[in-house]
Amino acid sequence: MNIYGLTYEELEDYFVNIGSKKFHGSQLFSWLYEKRIKSYDEITNIKKELINNISSNYGIDRLKIVSVEKDVDVCKYLFELNDLEHIEAVLMRHDYGNSVCVSSQVGCNMGCKFCESGRRKKVRNLETYEMVLQILQIEEELGERISHVVVMGIGEPFDNYDNLIKFIKIINHPKGLAIGARHITVSTCGVVPKIKEFGNLSMQVNLAISLHAPNNTIRDRLMPINKVYPLDVLIPCLKEYIKKTNRRLTFEYILLNGINDTEECAIELSNLIKGMNAYVNLIPYNETNNLKFMRSNTVQIMRFYDILKKNRVNVTIRREFGSKISAACGQLRSKKEELWNLFI
Ligand code: SF4
Repeated sequence: MNIYGLTYEELEDYFVNIGSKKFHGSQLFSWLYEKRIKSYDEITNIKKELINNISSNYGIDRLKIVSVEKDVDVCKYLFELNDLEHIEAVLMRHDYGNSVCVSSQVGCNMGCKFCESGRRKKVRNLETYEMVLQILQIEEELGERISHVVVMGIGEPFDNYDNLIKFIKIINHPKGLAIGARHITVSTCGVVPKIKEFGNLSMQVNLAISLHAPNNTIRDRLMPINKVYPLDVLIPCLKEYIKKTNRRLTFEYILLNGINDTEECAIELSNLIKGMNAYVNLIPYNETNNLKFMRSNTVQIMRFYDILKKNRVNVTIRREFGSKISAACGQLRSKKEELWNLFI
């Protein structure tokens, strides 16, 4: 177990449960996230016996950064975990701040057909600390604050729900990494029960839905999750989510040549999400050697965009970074070595 997997409240409880004072939890949190200690020995204001107690249960080790690939506005970090598995996180530098795309699992079981990352089956969920440390260590490497986080790397975050929620609590806590809830985005392929659960939390975190199709026939072909939670189940659930949270949703829509990029698809999509407080993020596809899909051409992309606009759908086209670095990010990882902006 690792200390970076404990929330502020859990740390307070720890000290109470061993017969000590709650405020030591706050002190320790501050040593971890404000003072950025690397060893328990650096702590000066908590009794040695208490530190010995917690250190015998929780390690303080960081992840091993195996490689860093840098480009102008993007940087990919490869981390090695204790069991020698590897995960990636991607830093994107924007004019509004630094954004990190984190992974939530080793591999992924969702099997989206267009996804390079999903070709490897899930090996395991990431522990909370393994998610927290992706951000903390990138922040330290960079020497600058990370202001935005997207959980859109390898893995389906809602398939690792409990660890995801703890991760959000830690990075959002004012004494933790203090990343504003509105600057955190979780992306799901559409795990309906967890969307409902997420909507019941009073977090102001953004939710993005990987939609990628305007009807069940196409979505069934692209995303196996649709056979479990088809659009006629997913869309009402999302409407309920918007009503309950009063938050705007993002629909991610990768344009695949001849599959989901026709004029009919654009009209169908407009009708599907009509009246919803949502916007569509169109993503031109990155072709890979391993997958058979092709990228829509610019004329098709613009035609699709125009139809949505005409139907009063809020829509953007994801900007290309033009990097030579391959992305960690689930839907977008590509041998073609391009990276698309993951955060609007
Ligand atoms: S797109 Fe996301 S959910 Fe789908 S297989 Fe890839 S990583 Fe998993």
